[in-house]
Amino acid sequence: MTDNNFELVENPDYEDFNLEMLHDYWSFKDAGHRKFTYTVKALLNKYDLKTSDKLVRIIRHSGHLGFKKLLDCKRCYKTFNVYTRKDIDFDKRHWFSTQLICGYCRKLAVELHVKENLVEFKQFIPVDQQIENQPPTAELKYLEKIFLYSLLTNVKIVGKNSIPPQEWSTFKEVEANGLQYILKNIIEKRYIININQYDIFAEKQNELRKLYNKSESQLSGELKDEINYYLRLSFNSEINVEMPKGFNSFEDWIEKLYEEIIEEKLLVSDYKELEKYILNKRLLEVYSLLDYVCQLKSIPVKKNNAFELDLMRMLLKYDLQHVLAIFMYMAKQTAADLYDMSQKVFDVKVFMKEPIFGRHLASYLDHLERKNEKPKYPRQLPENWTYSEIELFVSSQIIGNYEKWEKFTPHEVLSLWMEAKGVELTEE
Ligand SMILES: [Zn+2]
Repeated sequence: MTDNNFELVENPDYEDFNLEMLHDYWSFKDAGHRKFTYTVKALLNKYDLKTSDKLVRIIRHSGHLGFKKLLDCKRCYKTFNVYTRKDIDFDKRHWFSTQLICGYCRKLAVELHVKENLVEFKQFIPVDQQIENQPPTAELKYLEKIFLYSLLTNVKIVGKNSIPPQEWSTFKEVEANGLQYILKNIIEKRYIININQYDIFAEKQNELRKLYNKSESQLSGELKDEINYYLRLSFNSEINVEMPKGFNSFEDWIEKLYEEIIEEKLLVSDYKELEKYILNKRLLEVYSLLDYVCQLKSIPVKKNNAFELDLMRMLLKYDLQHVLAIFMYMAKQTAADLYDMSQKVFDVKVFMKEPIFGRHLASYLDHLERKNEKPKYPRQLPENWTYSEIELFVSSQIIGNYEKWEKFTPHEVLSLWMEAKGVELTEE
């Protein structure tokens, strides 16, 4: 139906209904331009009427023009009714476009979107915990054993095999530092069960809640009830450690793990993993020292790839105590620059302040390299520095020097570890 395809609707039940008058009134001589055949004056003469008010009254009760228009959904039509000539150009008014929004289809679209999200959400509802877990059978690798050993000797196992969530998250925060991928492997091998399940569920539930709040007004009561049911679901986190077959107690298993860690020969792949672990751990430690210094000295810093390259260059060459010394020195220079800047520039923006620290670091490292010098003094780590249990275990039980790793570069730690385990690497 085109814009000007009006349909004349008659209302013959009206007491003063006048078919001819209705047709004359709405007769177009040029429908495209909406020009009428008769003027109002001609109609008044023809039907012997005194005022146009009367004409309009009879006309508006005798019928109207219907005008069908396709809505923005491109599927539904809406009929607009025109009762008198003054409204003939209703579709040229500024408010007309808002009349073309299809509320019905929008509501359907929102509902559909919410329903699709709900289907996806349901996949994340944790399954019944009553399922009996099979004992894990996959071989553990060297670092995985060390991680598990440290876990089992540092957290309290409650009930049959549960780790309280609080103890788990504290352990994970310090120990998974650089060991996230090892942790992931242990979970995949099912020695630790149900770790992220509830976190993901809670996250998905949160997403659903946001979507619900946004779309609530468009949803049917039934759908709202269903979503509310899912929003009320909650699960208690439980982390279980699964013992492999052949052990009577956790003590037995811990003892066996210890034995293997001490006696086992290293594979080439173990060596590569140790190297990766030590470097990752050190990089994360360097970042926490950086945050510590920046907070202490109130200095902003721009962390980007170029900056991280300099951090890597630094941590490969210098131990952690010297890294801290470098950071403190850079912070001092940066603070001086920031002071100068505030004296000269009226409004110092963050983007002007942020790169200063990185620039100082890059040029200082260049300087040390050129002169082949070491930074002069090491610095003690902050008093509240948390040492990793894995680090302390390796230092006392494997390397046997009882030294913390902060005095060594990553490669020095690796060499000490290799020396203690014997350099003979078994090929796979
Ligand atoms: Zn529609």
